[in-house]
Amino acid sequence: STVYLNGEFVPHERALISVEDRAFLFADGIYEVVRVYGGRPFDLEPHLARLSRSAGELRLPEPDGEHLAAVTRELIRRNGLDEGTVYFQITRGVHAPRAHAFPTGTAAPTVVVLTHPLSPEALAAGEQHRREGVAAITVPEQRWARCDIKSVSLLPNVLAKQQAVERGAYEALFVRDGFVIEGSSSNLFAVLDGEIVTYPACNYILNGIARQRVIRNARELGYTVREQGIPLGALDRCQELFLTSTTSEVMPIVAVDGKPVGSGAVGPVARALQAAYRDAVRALR
Ligand code: PMP
Repeated sequence: STVYLNGEFVPHERALISVEDRAFLFADGIYEVVRVYGGRPFDLEPHLARLSRSAGELRLPEPDGEHLAAVTRELIRRNGLDEGTVYFQITRGVHAPRAHAFPTGTAAPTVVVLTHPLSPEALAAGEQHRREGVAAITVPEQRWARCDIKSVSLLPNVLAKQQAVERGAYEALFVRDGFVIEGSSSNLFAVLDGEIVTYPACNYILNGIARQRVIRNARELGYTVREQGIPLGALDRCQELFLTSTTSEVMPIVAVDGKPVGSGAVGPVARALQAAYRDAVRALR
């Protein structure tokens, strides 16, 4: 496939990054993932706006959103991408010899855009998970206090997700100060006393693009959405629990730490929000 690297379209095997790149040495970089449905990027604009915000927080030069949108469409075309994802990464570039402080002078950032197709098997697995619901585990929060930045520094997320996989679960949910705040790569929603509850967008979570869309959809459907913490102790009395993310969409959780959530089956609120999300995807065509 073709990859965009620093202003050029190059074959995947020739898209090479220096060993002195600061993302390799310091995880000094940011990223985005955009879902492509039927060859069309979904919510590209808010993803690129968030990339720009992340860049600002790292004091990286502001990415050119219009250029990246054009690169996205060109890569989708060149790679014949139908169902899949587009991955963006911007790093502070190459800095030799290794030193923590920003390079002085005119070091250029490294800008990479990749596409990844989703196989029919992966798509079918996603559909089945959304239909039947998935299991989750809780893990202590071990990340930093700027989770609002979509940084490539993902070690705690990687370790949490691996724990979930090893325990046969789909996602690990971080618990901070007694509240279940979000997943290792997703946001969390609960239905508690008939209301939808999700952690407020602050420095402790990534404000997901899917999260924002689902909150809008829920309010349009007449649900009350409260942006507040879900107490760990409330998990056994919530009616429903679900995740949102660009790739998972609206993913019902039917068990946490081996205990059923609500009735133990996918609930009506998750179903309604899955349908609303799918309507938006269909409207792309
Ligand atoms: N939280 C974290 C920690 C994530 O990594 C992600 C996915 N990148 C999300 C939430 C969901 O964000 P989005 O809806 O933009 O995919």
